[in-house]
Amino acid sequence: MNHFSTRLAGLAALCLLTFGCQQEISVADIALATPEPIYAQLPVSTKSLGKGADGSSVRIAMAEFVTPADADEIGNRVFFNDRGNKQLAYDFAPGTSGDGTDAISYYIDATRPSNDLPLGQTSDAIDRAMTTWDDATCSDLDIFRIPATGQPTGLVSAVYGYGGSTDYVADVVHNGWLPGAFFSKVFGSRGKNVLGVTFTLVLLDANGREVDTNNDGKSDVAWREIYYNDRFNWATSIDVETIALHEAGHGLSQEHFGKGFRNTKTGEVKYSPRAVMNAIYSGVQTTVAGTDNAGHCSLWGSWPNK
Ligand SMILES: [Zn+2]
Repeated sequence: MNHFSTRLAGLAALCLLTFGCQQEISVADIALATPEPIYAQLPVSTKSLGKGADGSSVRIAMAEFVTPADADEIGNRVFFNDRGNKQLAYDFAPGTSGDGTDAISYYIDATRPSNDLPLGQTSDAIDRAMTTWDDATCSDLDIFRIPATGQPTGLVSAVYGYGGSTDYVADVVHNGWLPGAFFSKVFGSRGKNVLGVTFTLVLLDANGREVDTNNDGKSDVAWREIYYNDRFNWATSIDVETIALHEAGHGLSQEHFGKGFRNTKTGEVKYSPRAVMNAIYSGVQTTVAGTDNAGHCSLWGSWPNK
């Protein structure tokens, strides 16, 4: 995983060309190679796992995870794909949401609190993160929260034996905190480095094929599920709102952004430009950067007309 390529000559150019060098890049910094996506198998058939609100089938298509700065790998994408190593894109399509509206709904599972913080505190942090994306002026998502029912959620957690439900709950579901063993079960040896993860579930037609109702070249998302790793200390080490904002960015179809660097003297890893959608957690960041906003606006600026 640690294939560091020395591109020192390129660094100066990168600084000039990107967004003003928000973090200083020194000659001791080497660029971290962006990892190739990972292809994995689910423990069950990938065909037709759950049920969309209208009875249509869904399956788990992809996961995106973020890692801490001191991990030995960078956050990455995992495709649960039985059709070969073909990268695919996924996005919500108007008129397909299980909540019956084109507004974006979210849900916070109250049955899986963190070990480290009271449920009310983590829920407030998630609410703030969702509001931050809702406040983007380029888009009109009307993000709203569906009240908790007390039932456990999560198609992915159900598939891996950690309880849950195969039913639609909301467009973006914060499924709560699960033990490190869950992440190891899903991601193998990588699981210990997964701070938080967003799974993309896609709609299938009657023949089990992904659908693209709005012909944007992206398979239609049924919903997304977000899990937090309770192996980490969320009271002292990791900021809930920062990770929730990052994962909700994936929930709203954004991908990772930015280039990682490791300092050869200190070992410290940093990203340029620094952004919510960096693949590595590098401290508290509860406002979106210009690049995050640009990514969001390109996806959602004309929603629901797209
Ligand atoms: Zn991520």
